[in-house]
Amino acid sequence: MKKVLSLLLAVSMLAAIIVPAFAQEKSETHNPDECGNVPVIIVRGMDFGGLYVDLGTENETPAINTDVGMIVKGALKAIGMSIIRFDFDYFIDGVIELANGIFKNFTMDENGDSLYNVSVPKYPESADNYQNLCDGEGFEYGMVRTCIEAFGEGHTYYINYDWRLDPYVVADDINAAVEAATKKTGHDKVNIVCCSMGGIMTVAYLDEYGYDKVNRCLFMSSTFCGAQVASDLLCGKVEIEPENLYNMLRNLTSDNKFLSFLIDALDFMGVFKGVTALTDYIFDNYKEEVYKDTIIPVFGKMLTLWGLVQPEDYENAINYIFGGRTAENAAFLKRADALRELMDGRTALINEMIDNGVEIAVVAHYGTPVVPVYENSHFNGDGTLETYQMSGYATVAPYGETLGDNYVAEKPEYLSPDRVVDLSTALFPEYTYIIRGAPHVAGSYGTDYADFLVWLLSYDGEFYAGASEKYPQFMISDSAQTLSSFE
Ligand SMILES: [Zn+2]
Repeated sequence: MKKVLSLLLAVSMLAAIIVPAFAQEKSETHNPDECGNVPVIIVRGMDFGGLYVDLGTENETPAINTDVGMIVKGALKAIGMSIIRFDFDYFIDGVIELANGIFKNFTMDENGDSLYNVSVPKYPESADNYQNLCDGEGFEYGMVRTCIEAFGEGHTYYINYDWRLDPYVVADDINAAVEAATKKTGHDKVNIVCCSMGGIMTVAYLDEYGYDKVNRCLFMSSTFCGAQVASDLLCGKVEIEPENLYNMLRNLTSDNKFLSFLIDALDFMGVFKGVTALTDYIFDNYKEEVYKDTIIPVFGKMLTLWGLVQPEDYENAINYIFGGRTAENAAFLKRADALRELMDGRTALINEMIDNGVEIAVVAHYGTPVVPVYENSHFNGDGTLETYQMSGYATVAPYGETLGDNYVAEKPEYLSPDRVVDLSTALFPEYTYIIRGAPHVAGSYGTDYADFLVWLLSYDGEFYAGASEKYPQFMISDSAQTLSSFE
């Protein structure tokens, strides 16, 4: 026995020395036909705090200005002036000034390009060349690490981008990664994983560059059908409803019995109605001013947001933001119109891809309220985006409700067992997974969900939702992203 052990030890020591050398050699003469792994391109979502001014120079600063001194000074000025003058107008003016100080660097020029020298760190080589990507834990970073480990060196690329830009500009970056991955590995196709805002960026890529080099495309918590929040904000539909506010706070405190009790007590006492009476007063009296002085100058010309507007809201949004000023904004509106056309053509484009052998999966989550600041904040969601759009327009009950006992699904097999989501109306029901309780962009490293991602990227059989018994079309996620079926 001892002999066997020492032999094993010797062999493994030898392997430890030889294998890295062998691996090195293998990557230089990588044979795609023997590899079996398709390169993966991960297109991340919006990284609100991930933009930098003068990146890579000694003047580099985060684009979002969170300088505490500036914020405290601005807030004190707003409060002080409104007290001195005994007039709420001064407070709003101060808040607008403060917001413009924080978001100034986000401003776009008249054509919808960045006004200032803002950019993001980029990763042109395969992801295993970057230590921070090899060590990823949560969200897209976790996915990248999972893919590096599952599919080997040189087979994972990570797209980070300035989320304010025209999706057609970001499409160029996606194309560069697809070209690099295919050229360097010798594989002729890639798998694309697009997360959150990466959805619309990927649709722009597919429209601009085609799908010849795409084997499989996964739309994870994505904006491939836009987002209600963008529609509402650009149509001026800001609003805080007591019930939506309560739902969000109750969800945030659900792990803490005392805080949950407190939220319920405050609700019982009518506090949320009071808060929203105040916000109603602010919106009624100052909304126009806030839009004119902050929202339109800073956010009005972010082309990404325009791409997310729902087709039926587009004209309203143009009127609300550019009413009476369409002639002077013609150059920008031409680009915004192109994005509306992109979204109009999306379904036909994806169907054409499917007909030509590209495999897709849509993965959407529900069971977490969205941020309660817009008219449709009662939509069910994943804490960030709405399930309705993420799922490709499934019929979804409002947050906290079901479609009802009398609801009849057009195709009963597409109704979630808890009667909250009906995929009958979704664009691609046979390829769509619906997961209750998973957070926005799940797939943290080491979780069951990460295994699901690897399965989605590597499964070799007929690729439809529920192809594996392990991952049925309707699933439940716990807080550790462990997946289970409805029982
Ligand atoms: Zn390979």
